[in-house]
Amino acid sequence: MSGVPGSTFPLVLSAPSGAGKTTIAHRLRASRDDVVFSISATTRAPRERERDGIDYHFVAEDAFRRMIDAGELIEWAQVHGSYYGTPLSNVRNAQARGQFLLLDIDVQGARQIRDKVPQAVHVFVLPPSGEVLVQRLTGRGSEDEARVQRRLRNALDEIRTAGEFDHVVVNDHLDQAVADVSAILDGRTEALRPHPPLATTIAAIAHEIERHLDPA
Ligand code: 5GP
Repeated sequence: MSGVPGSTFPLVLSAPSGAGKTTIAHRLRASRDDVVFSISATTRAPRERERDGIDYHFVAEDAFRRMIDAGELIEWAQVHGSYYGTPLSNVRNAQARGQFLLLDIDVQGARQIRDKVPQAVHVFVLPPSGEVLVQRLTGRGSEDEARVQRRLRNALDEIRTAGEFDHVVVNDHLDQAVADVSAILDGRTEALRPHPPLATTIAAIAHEIERHLDPA
């Protein structure tokens, strides 16, 4: 069931890659029919099994530039060498239908949404540890070492911004992390699990990631 238009809000789910945010987002959508994904436009090439119009709107760079010029993107950013952006129509349509729009976007995009959509709620997903994140990024096997290093450096930068978010959810147990985000959607933030001071958690994760970084 969808909610009443006006009672829902866009939920920005940010995380370094490897923190499991995509899995959380899929679980949320499967368990709640008032949640809809924001399908972004991107200039990156589709990965195997990704479908145009479902995972992303895959567009060429000149088409992406035209979308920017026409004001069709509410935010956009360059991430890992490709362009990504959120169509403004995603936000408008979800609002009109009384749905929570789930935005799986990077921290640059999250900052733009914070400025332009004040009612949006921002959640940062942290991995349970830096080691787990490194394992997930190196275990993909599909990427060369330079790419892995780039993702690790980006992860480090992103994790250091977690303090800017309204809520931080630690993805140590998937079910619990999904329940935490669901509680945020329902405004039941008292149901969130307490966690150690954020600065301590971030410092520990950053330290573990740094151990795997080549000297710059
Ligand atoms: P991937 O290429 O692995 O699907 O995504 C790479 C990064 O781009 C992720 O951090 C993802 O959250 C981010 N991203 C995906 N769509 C958007 C978007 O529309 N805007 C911004 N700013 N980032 C996005």
